[in-house]
Amino acid sequence: MTGDEPEAGPAAGASFFRFCPSCGAAGPTFVDNKFWHCRACGFDFFRNAAAAAGVIIHGPEGIVLLERSLEPRSGKLAFPGGFVDLGERAEEAALRECREEIGWAPPEIEYLGSYPNLYDYGGVGYYTCDIFYFYRAPGGSALPPLAPRDGEARRVRLLPPRAIQAADLAFPSTAWALGAYAATLG
Ligand SMILES: [Zn+2]
Repeated sequence: MTGDEPEAGPAAGASFFRFCPSCGAAGPTFVDNKFWHCRACGFDFFRNAAAAAGVIIHGPEGIVLLERSLEPRSGKLAFPGGFVDLGERAEEAALRECREEIGWAPPEIEYLGSYPNLYDYGGVGYYTCDIFYFYRAPGGSALPPLAPRDGEARRVRLLPPRAIQAADLAFPSTAWALGAYAATLG
């Protein structure tokens, strides 16, 4: 996994805090691309990757993809998934996002891998660690009817792995996960 990491966005490494969030002094410095430090009060605030979790759901008609209706990457395809809440397990987040986004979660999921991503929202580049799981319907058993639930997606599409165009995918991590999953199919 080298050479295809997502590029840093406009907010990468930028000190977008103009004032210390603790004491209000101007100009906290951004140190080693890791944390903000306030010289006035000594406050440190770390910028860590946010965890996100998603699931590749593979039924007999294909892989479940959500056509995004919101920026970033409106109109592009992504797997059900989203940010891990505070105190939440990645597995729980993956299944919760499935329930929220398509109204159904698979009965079990297996770990696939993780990949860094950069998610631009509201002018801030959120670095994420996208954690992927997969579910392959056993014996070609049908998936229940799936429809978008929470307004983040325009529609649910079911596409065979080979019919999915890389240019239609929302994020580099989506493409990486699809490639990693396809490799398990043999
Ligand atoms: Zn301060």
